[in-house]
Amino acid sequence: MKFPMMCPCKSKKKYNDCCRPYHEKTLHPTDAVALMRSRYSAYALGLADYIIETTHPDHPHVSAKVWEWREDILQFTRETEFLDLEILSSEERQEKAYVTFTASLMQHGKDVSYTEKSLFELKDGIWLYKEAEFL
Ligand SMILES: [Zn+2]
Repeated sequence: MKFPMMCPCKSKKKYNDCCRPYHEKTLHPTDAVALMRSRYSAYALGLADYIIETTHPDHPHVSAKVWEWREDILQFTRETEFLDLEILSSEERQEKAYVTFTASLMQHGKDVSYTEKSLFELKDGIWLYKEAEFL
């Protein structure tokens, strides 16, 4: 895969200095916002395994067949342009964190942007995506 110069999470940082170490598992995101950003950029880059590995095992998708889920993710990433990510707020309390964000997305020329409040949980010292509340 050809890596982008600037990170697709729209941090305005270089990919090498932003989400790449997380995607390559040389580092774990130290907080839920960093995990959120790295998941957005993983979607933008089509890194389905990273999405799967950073989802909490209690998430309903995890019980489905993993290969089907991976196909769904890949199809979504192929059909979607990842235009922008804006973190609106975040709160962290011990093992749980909420991150509210707006993802600006286009599919087939149509605006499919959405705002979501995501719940993240710390499991064995690693932040994982738990579930979403659409706003
Ligand atoms: Zn990034």
